[in-house]
Amino acid sequence: MRILLKSAVLIGAVAMLATPAIAGPNDNLNAALWTQRSVEFKGSALTAYALATIRLDQALADKGWSALAAAEQGDDFRDRPAAVILDVDETVLDNSPYQSWMVLNDQSFHPKTWGKFVNTVTSRPIPGSLAFTKYAASKGVKVFYVSNRNGDLEDATRKNLEKFGYPMGGNVDTVLLRKERPEWASSKKSPRRSHVGKDYRVLLLIGDNFGDFVDGYKKTQAGRAALMKQHTAKWGKQWIVVANPTYGSWESAPYGFNYKLSGDEKRALKAGSLEAWKP
Ligand SMILES: [Mg+2]
Repeated sequence: MRILLKSAVLIGAVAMLATPAIAGPNDNLNAALWTQRSVEFKGSALTAYALATIRLDQALADKGWSALAAAEQGDDFRDRPAAVILDVDETVLDNSPYQSWMVLNDQSFHPKTWGKFVNTVTSRPIPGSLAFTKYAASKGVKVFYVSNRNGDLEDATRKNLEKFGYPMGGNVDTVLLRKERPEWASSKKSPRRSHVGKDYRVLLLIGDNFGDFVDGYKKTQAGRAALMKQHTAKWGKQWIVVANPTYGSWESAPYGFNYKLSGDEKRALKAGSLEAWKP
């Protein structure tokens, strides 16, 4: 039995060595490697959710506490039931196998391959997210998932969350995807935050992308930095960020969200935005 186990480990190691060669240099290799294989990423995510747990308790004790903009939360929210809003991808569900597929095959994001991946229902929990959402639910806090996955991926998304036992909201629709309603056509999440805010006091926003917290994230790097500064007091309190170095609006900002540019053009603009030491 022991010999069998040992050979299984050895075969596993050889199989890893025999992984198909990478199609070419890919800018996302380190980012995918870090999120998928490093203990540092796992530790970082656990840290974010440990902080979120502390903030949840503080927020429950303070009825004046809200994570939403005034326009999203509305007036007289103190006595509304409590909720938290989490993004899904790279906040709750880890899609690093899709990222790694792109790296190894020099592919970029496409709705067709993404939909195919999502429908495999194989995304795993981001460390800390399951324990946090269960803790929130145990305190009577409604857990909402506000994601820019398109509405046609709702079944697969629900199945993936249910598979691990994420709180699903009972008779309340807590999975709010893009294009699920005509007024939710935009990737900007403010209308969906307002939808939750009218019935709940929203304690925390948790996400990996600036747009998970505030609209107006599709700006230049300087514009984004200014918008971030306006909300300085919220970071680490009402707003908790999970690290995602593989994609996000931070990556698109240097090339002005112009997805039609070629890979080389985007790369040149990204490199050009770096502040470099001049020896
Ligand atoms: Mg995300």
